[in-house]
Amino acid sequence: MRQAMLNADVGDDVYGEDPTAITLEAKAAELLKTESALFVTSGTQSNLLALLSHCQRGDEYIAGSQAHSYLEEGGGGAVLASIQPQPIENNHDGTIDLNKVEAAIKPDDFHYATTRLFCLENTFFGQPLPITYLEEAASLARHHGLSLHLDGARLFNAAIKQNVPAHEIAQHFDSISACLSKGLGAPMGSVLCGTRKFIRDARRWRKMLGGGWRQAGIVASAGLYALEHNIERLSRDHTNAFLLSRLLEQIDGLVVDKPRERTNMVFVTVPEDIVPELTSRLRKAGILISCEYNPIRLVTHLDIDEPAIYRSADAFRHALTH
Ligand SMILES: *Cc1c(COP(=O)(O)O)cnc(C)c1O
Repeated sequence: MRQAMLNADVGDDVYGEDPTAITLEAKAAELLKTESALFVTSGTQSNLLALLSHCQRGDEYIAGSQAHSYLEEGGGGAVLASIQPQPIENNHDGTIDLNKVEAAIKPDDFHYATTRLFCLENTFFGQPLPITYLEEAASLARHHGLSLHLDGARLFNAAIKQNVPAHEIAQHFDSISACLSKGLGAPMGSVLCGTRKFIRDARRWRKMLGGGWRQAGIVASAGLYALEHNIERLSRDHTNAFLLSRLLEQIDGLVVDKPRERTNMVFVTVPEDIVPELTSRLRKAGILISCEYNPIRLVTHLDIDEPAIYRSADAFRHALTH
């Protein structure tokens, strides 16, 4: 990946002249079978661009109450786009009850914001959403004239786990955001995918938000490398996460949540009394985690190999018994 960055062909992407950014965007559109795609600085920017491009000021979007795009993006939709969020509680598996979604869609009455967009997240806490659920959500959105956006920060993990091409998941959505910088291992960036018209709008908003790149190819090359080389290997992260779950389950006092349903994430509940100390105990063993509350989240990625999994499990055992 570093070599690809070193050798990247570049141009000025604000003028649409960076060949590597163009190739990356074409590759993303090809993988997800959308008309077009846009390379953006982050997943947060990508989701915000989707809100700005689908909605007008005074519109509303529906999202899960635990969704990253609602909870962890600084309220950007409300702050920068004057779009009102309508959160609805997520089920444990990441789905949102479609009856509740339907009930939250506002009638055509000037007392209400105009419900315009429905957002889902996949994977959700490392769990792929069931494909049948995506079909039902798409059908509901169509029925009510809503656009459907996917925060697919970890879309490729879902595709690998469900053993389907990513476009089979993407086909249900009007727009999809996917992170290059998570399990795919690029240093930065996301891709936002959708129709030509949608991407044209998003490109305009991206410029306004200060996200117009110049020699974008230097970082686009890393994203392109990630899409070309690091998707299939995500299955190893899933295997490693499952191995870690199995090893942690054997340690007295640890409870792992739904390991079979997760991709590259492990959620483990540790005894309350060691929560405050666990981070520093593991640090002494060379394992960096941030443990502030239960359950703690552990994520596998391309820099974590199988020996590291065994080492981590040993460090947990040691931390709990000393
Ligand atoms: C990481 C993440 C984002 C945001 O990505 P950044 O590049 O960190 O802004 C959005 N949604 C989900 C589900 C994520 O995990």
